[in-house]
Parts: sequence; structure tokens; C-alpha cells
Amino acid sequence: MSKDFLKQQEEILIEMQDKLERQLESFAKKDENLDHNWKSDFPKLDKSAIGDANMETAQDEVEEYMNRLSLEHTLEIKLRNVAHALERIKKGEYGKCEKCNKKIPLDRLKVCPEARWCLDCEKK
Ligand SMILES: [Zn+2]
Repeated sequence: MSKDFLKQQEEILIEMQDKLERQLESFAKKDENLDHNWKSDFPKLDKSAIGDANMETAQDEVEEYMNRLSLEHTLEIKLRNVAHALERIKKGEYGKCEKCNKKIPLDRLKVCPEARWCLDCEKK
């Protein structure tokens, strides 16, 4: 793998990391005790919305919260993989499949810079 390619991947990954963190910050709080862990804010409950007439609103809020949790989970995993890939660049291990130790094809890394496994292992 060329140094230029590595540098380029590193820049892409840093940019991805920034973007993911900003996305998470928009609806969740960073957990200071755990690395790469975030907590979703519960949507602000309007006190007056609690009551039979407004049950629907309350349900919408719960639904919204569930959506946030699942989005948070997806973004968190992605962020962890991105951070992990950056670590591997530092250690000089980037681009190797973590399962079979074979080189991950550059084409795959271009599409998915945070890839941890080669396509064969991903399928398993
Ligand atoms: Zn593999």
C-alpha cells in the first residue's frame, strides 16, 4: 500500500469521524465515562401533552426516541469502526483483514475505508 493512499484514507477517516460525531451530538450526549459511547436525549416532553387527548403526541415522542436510539446505535458502531481504522493506520496494520490477515483489496477500502474484514470474511 502506498503512503499516499494511506494518507488519503486517513484524511477520509478523520473527516468521517468528525461528521459522525457532529451527527451524534445533534441528538445525543457523549458519555464521558465510556469511549465512543453516546446517549440519546429523550425528546422534550411537553407536560401538557400527557393526557388522554394527547396520547398520540406522547406515542409519537416514544417512537421518535426509539428511532433515535436505533440511529444512535448505527452511528456509534460506524464511529467505532472509523476510530479503530485510524488506530490501525497508526500501528501500520491498516488494510489487513482482521480475520484471515490477507490484504483487503484497495477497491474495497476506497468504498469502505473503515472495513475490518475482506469481503470473503465479511460474508461468513
Ligand atoms: Zn479475510
